[in-house]
Amino acid sequence: MPAVGHTIAIYPGSFDPVTNGHLDLIERGTKIFQRLIVAVLRNADKDPLFTVAERVEMLRQVTQPWANVEVDVFDGLLVDYSRRRGAGVILRGIRAISDYEYELQMALMNRKLEPQLETVFMMPALKYSYLSARLVREIAQFGGPLDGLVPPVVEQKLRAKVT
Ligand code: ADP
Repeated sequence: MPAVGHTIAIYPGSFDPVTNGHLDLIERGTKIFQRLIVAVLRNADKDPLFTVAERVEMLRQVTQPWANVEVDVFDGLLVDYSRRRGAGVILRGIRAISDYEYELQMALMNRKLEPQLETVFMMPALKYSYLSARLVREIAQFGGPLDGLVPPVVEQKLRAKVT
C-alpha cells in the first residue's frame, strides 16, 4: 500500500445537510490524503430533508476551497465503491464515545469484506463534537439559531426548506 500522502480516501455519509463538523473533518482529511472523495450515500434514509442532488450541490459549493476534494454519490456496498474508485482509506469522524460502538462494528465488517481497505478515524474540533446533521435539522425546523453550526449557504437552504 502506498504512503498515506499518496492515498485516495473516501469520506462517506448522508450529509443531510453538510455541517461545520463535516467540514472540519474534510479540512483535516485534505491535509493528510492526496485526494478526498466525499461520497453521499443514496437511499440511506428513507425520509431525507434534502434530495441527493441538493446535498451534492451544497457539498460542492462549500468544498470549493480545496482542490483535492471531489464530491460523488454512491449506492451499494462501500467496499465495492472504494474498489471502483481505487481508494485505500475510509475516513470517518468520531465525536463522542457513543459514535465508537457503531463505527467499530462498521470498520471491522468492512475489513472482513475487504482486508486491504483501512478505516481512519479523526476527531473534530471540540466545538463540533456535539454537532450532528440530525440536530441541525431539528433546530432549523423550529426556527432556532444555526450560526456556527452550518455554512451560510446551508443555513439559507435550511430556512427555505422549512418555511
Ligand atoms: P450525521 O451523523 O451528522 O448525520 P453523516 O451520517 O453524514 O452525519 O456522517 C458522516 C460521517 O461524518 C460519520 O463518520 C460521522 O461520524 C461524521 N460526522 C458527522 N458529524 C460530525 C462532526 N460534528 N464532527 C466530526 N465528524 C462528524
